Amino acid sequence: MKTILINGLVLTMEADWKPAYLDIVINDQRIEKVEQLSDDERKQYINQGYQCVDMANKVVMPGFVNTHGHAAMTLLRSYADDLPLQQWLEDKIWPFEAKLTADDIYWGTKLAIIEMLETGTTCFTDMYFEMEQVAKAVEEMGIRACLSRGMIGVAPNRDIALSESEQFISQWNQAAEGRITCTLGPHAPYTCPPDYLKKVVELANKLDVPIQIHVSETEKEVNDCKEMYGASPVKHLENIGLFSRPTIAAHCVHLDDNDIDIMHKHNVTISHNPSSNLKLASGIAPLKKYIDKGLTVGIGTDGCSSNNNLDMLEELKLASLIHKGNTYDPTLIPARKALEMATIEGAKALFLDEVIGSIAPGKQADIIAFSLDKSLYYPSFDITSLLVYSANSRDISDVFIAGKQIMKNRRLEFNKQEIFQQVQDRAQNIAKEIAATK
Ligand SMILES: [Zn+2]
Repeated sequence: MKTILINGLVLTMEADWKPAYLDIVINDQRIEKVEQLSDDERKQYINQGYQCVDMANKVVMPGFVNTHGHAAMTLLRSYADDLPLQQWLEDKIWPFEAKLTADDIYWGTKLAIIEMLETGTTCFTDMYFEMEQVAKAVEEMGIRACLSRGMIGVAPNRDIALSESEQFISQWNQAAEGRITCTLGPHAPYTCPPDYLKKVVELANKLDVPIQIHVSETEKEVNDCKEMYGASPVKHLENIGLFSRPTIAAHCVHLDDNDIDIMHKHNVTISHNPSSNLKLASGIAPLKKYIDKGLTVGIGTDGCSSNNNLDMLEELKLASLIHKGNTYDPTLIPARKALEMATIEGAKALFLDEVIGSIAPGKQADIIAFSLDKSLYYPSFDITSLLVYSANSRDISDVFIAGKQIMKNRRLEFNKQEIFQQVQDRAQNIAKEIAATK
């Protein structure tokens, strides 16, 4: 497919980007050229079979990169809220998850993908189980994803989880025309003992994939780790040798200065999940310290039961606001930085910045457009600021992934009603089964 996006106001997210009217030439999956074309040049492309798509009165930017989540947890949306973390997990989340079938995961992931596409996410990260179902949904629906089978080292199936991970990665890494990449997903230091994490590192070396893991989400986790191993979770993971692999650390709410030095030394990247950390009362990550140190920080929504949506625009606005309020510093996380964290920094966090995250020749054409034909974009002094502080994800009109237009003027070519109904029926049935056993 050969396309030129014309007349749009483009935010490339390349170094020193500034909003500019540019044409984006897309050849098949990739961006071929990003510059303002003359009428003659446009005609030449049209003669070669390129189709012009008019982006007049739209802002065009890279799609959002969601760096942490559990997509099929859409099935648990609104099932358990306003509870203390341990009670939330033990009484509600784990019993519900224990009943999820492969088909449930498939439909729950499809619901998540609908929501992500409608809110401008073009690449999401997932750590869950029955991952073949997730990969199948990704393949069918045209989105991009970075997938891992979650592994719990204290569970009876710990060794099966390792072999299933290996099998999943052999089958799916770079599948769906390259839209799927894989990582290993040990859940956390407190659910994976050192001997298990060492096996994970060995496997990551063998398969040459990154590792994603939850790190220092709560204060309790940090204190328990210090008591058990005499080191913070970050120091503990360094001791084990986990950071010898490229690592994506989710949450990182409670890191001290020594932890931050270790993260920097090994280029461990961070997925910042502000909604989830607030909702589960885990705390607020000291983002200023991470950014001052030069750590790579992307944004993630986490799963739907701790957010409760997958809206990256909402997440990046929150990331921009809470750190201002928390530090009494209104200059912290300016709009520009928030947009970068949700796009190019997210791509860097997933070690995919050579492929996605900005609009540049050679990169995959993962692009979204906001329609500016709404009251909240007037007057327009600064489009970057409007996108972060005023915009609504419902204004996202178009989504392109790997050069293919998946959403056009907010229309998706999927049977949404079927997906809604499947998820509603499946989730209600599980809730009923659980209620009946109490
Ligand atoms: Zn998580």
